[in-house]
Amino acid sequence: MVQRILQPHEIESLDHVALARLRLPPRAGTFAARAQRLRQLAAGNPLGPYLALMAIVADAQEAAAGIAAVPPPDAQAIVLAREHRMPPLAAAGGQGQGTWHAALAALLAALQVAPGLPAAATAALERLAALPPHALDAQAQALLGGRDDEADLAIAPFLMAALQVGWTGQASQLAEADVPALDVHTVCPVCGTLPVASIVRIGGRYQGLRYLQCALCATEWHMVRIKCSHCESTAGISYHVAENETQRRETGEKSDGLHAVKAESCEHCHTYRKVCYMEKDMAVEPVADDLATLALDVLMGEAGYARASGNPLLWQGAQS
Ligand SMILES: [Zn+2]
Ligand SMILES: [Zn+2]
Repeated sequence: MVQRILQPHEIESLDHVALARLRLPPRAGTFAARAQRLRQLAAGNPLGPYLALMAIVADAQEAAAGIAAVPPPDAQAIVLAREHRMPPLAAAGGQGQGTWHAALAALLAALQVAPGLPAAATAALERLAALPPHALDAQAQALLGGRDDEADLAIAPFLMAALQVGWTGQASQLAEADVPALDVHTVCPVCGTLPVASIVRIGGRYQGLRYLQCALCATEWHMVRIKCSHCESTAGISYHVAENETQRRETGEKSDGLHAVKAESCEHCHTYRKVCYMEKDMAVEPVADDLATLALDVLMGEAGYARASGNPLLWQGAQS
């Protein structure tokens, strides 16, 4: 047998197979899965009505993703991103209106015919639809830049939902080779946004691996377990579950899925992000499970830890 020396690009691709460093979002289904999970978690949850509303929004996102003419990623931006090891669909910096304007129109149209919207949501949607273009772009930039203090908090979840449709639609059209490995591992390699939470997956090449999920484009990127997703410290990492959850396990009460979520805290930077475990519940979905485990946020706040980043479907002035 002749031994052959692998070329660099072959080694690189082997490495990718071994590590499964990225999970780009599929062309369809991201928002439908989120809607289903939100609905499942709404029952008996203190935040139930809000989760049910966001399930309606996620359904509308799935519908909008199917009809909005989201343009393909810019080929030149992909080349430049690879050259400079930058995110190819960078969210901050003002570009990308083309990415989400169509998505917003489609989302508003889908929500207009959605049954069961509370009056407050309808009013917020009317205000969003009536925003003049410059105010709309300013609001979008505030959300993309994480500047909560400049955001109109009532319309923020709906506008963010439109931005997600735009960026997720573009990210789903990328190939793994279009996405360079960044020097910074704590932001999305596709769009540069912070992760909402992380997920430990099961099955195939993802078995047992932990991925951070982007709050904007739903791309997941690999990060080893027991490591702070905010400052990358590997020392001083602890895991926390909500107290009522511990009690539920002890009494053998039927699980509502919340036990599949833990908060991963760091003694170095005193922040935390949640980890969702598929081995505990196959249906975990980072955005939905993060939103549905507010009791854990209360616990972590009391213990003196700050959220490393917010939930894209919940905007509060003093969230962090
Ligand atoms: Zn992203
Ligand atoms: Zn840290």
